[in-house]
Amino acid sequence: MRLGKWNTALTKWYLRYYTYGLLPIRVQSALVARHGRKVYKLRFGPDYEELARFLEVSERSDPDEIRSYQESRLRKLIRHAYETVPHYRDIMDERKLKPSDITTVPDLSKLPVLSKEDVRSAGTRLLSSAFDRKSLLTAATSATTGTPLTVYWDRDVEIMNHACYMRLKRWAGVPFGTPHAVMQGKPTVPPPQKKPPFWRYNPAWNQVRMSTLHMSDANLPYYLDELRRFGAESLETYPSAAYVIARFLEAKGEYLPLKSVFTTGEPLLTQQRVVIEERFQTKVFDAYGAAERVVFSTECEEHDGHHLYEEYGITEFVDEEGNSVPVGTAGLVAGTGLHNMAMPLIRYVGGDIGVASDKRCACGRTLSMLEGLTSRAQDVLVLPDGRMLPGRNIGWSVRMIDHVKDWQVIQERPDEIRLVVVSDKPISEQEHAGLRQYFRRRLGPEVRLLVERVAEIPHSPVGKTRHVISHVPLVWGQSNVFAMEEAEEPSTPRK
Ligand SMILES: [Zn+2]
Repeated sequence: MRLGKWNTALTKWYLRYYTYGLLPIRVQSALVARHGRKVYKLRFGPDYEELARFLEVSERSDPDEIRSYQESRLRKLIRHAYETVPHYRDIMDERKLKPSDITTVPDLSKLPVLSKEDVRSAGTRLLSSAFDRKSLLTAATSATTGTPLTVYWDRDVEIMNHACYMRLKRWAGVPFGTPHAVMQGKPTVPPPQKKPPFWRYNPAWNQVRMSTLHMSDANLPYYLDELRRFGAESLETYPSAAYVIARFLEAKGEYLPLKSVFTTGEPLLTQQRVVIEERFQTKVFDAYGAAERVVFSTECEEHDGHHLYEEYGITEFVDEEGNSVPVGTAGLVAGTGLHNMAMPLIRYVGGDIGVASDKRCACGRTLSMLEGLTSRAQDVLVLPDGRMLPGRNIGWSVRMIDHVKDWQVIQERPDEIRLVVVSDKPISEQEHAGLRQYFRRRLGPEVRLLVERVAEIPHSPVGKTRHVISHVPLVWGQSNVFAMEEAEEPSTPRK
């Protein structure tokens, strides 16, 4: 069976969400609160405490110990996959491999990488026969690129995932129970709603869940009032949503001091970080993870790159064929989740790119570091001279123009960039010239810049924005796509 057919989980979710939207707000609130209690019980379930303690010790333990933990989980995963997952049984039989052939991290290269398309065509053959499908948790991967995939996982993965997120909060000094705002995940405020409240409460988590789909100049004052009234001490959201609020604060000359801002779900652009940190008077803790549950990484209090959560999964950096690329060069992220026994994903390549690093963090934790990570291959621009430029930097140019509310860069071919902007006013000739100069300096004279004004930039159903889309293919293991980042400090006045 093809996976498209069992996208019923997604259909069901849409239907339920549609019905939810027709209910009165107080009923919606009760449902959100009930869901929050249910999720609390699940995520703080048995083993949570033990797992949290384990993570606290292992983050400072000898790298060899972390490696041996990974490999003991890997052996269990491989044996389980061979015995109960038809897809892996076939692959290993075809390659004449037995579980005893894959016992170390380097042994993983005996297996092929698993692409999104492979997951789609394998369908239910990727599910373990040891689990009842009805008992599993499921999600569709983010639909910002391509067709979403349905991924299944068991309760242990949910608890592990949560324990990892709580580790990040420990690093940030924000314990569970701190009043906070969340603007991500399933929308709790139906898009057609025109008047506040653009949020619902989740008391079990001391959380106000705000909509990412209602932020406008007219509505944002309500958001700010509510953040202050609720006493939110931290904000968890997509970089683009935190940035919208920060820009709004900036336009009003206001600040909203928080203890921390947690961003995830999109690449955090350098210029977003600066404005967010300034207006919320705090540091941004960026995190990376995905619905596939194979890789998890976050910043620590040093904010000097991401730590890989190596207890969560094994992360390799490879080319399309699955060959490792050297440390310090760009590769596709291939993740092997060490906890999902229900739908094992081994060497899963979702299109994200990363650069491994051998540096050690000043915080003293021994978890490996990443030099850079971006959430999709398409977030990188490829220039005619072969350079690869992470799209996260070029947003500075747009900051030069006050009246631009939203933007997107689209690249179809190496020598042409389209900058699409949303603004009430046309871009003046002078502004145009400024943009051309900016892009020429960074991309080189052979890249033509086209600027277009549009009414709206499409967002994903959960409110994520893709600021950079490139259709030009990348070449792996040749250069570090993130190396240019440091040179991209703002040279333009931001006021
Ligand atoms: Zn650190």
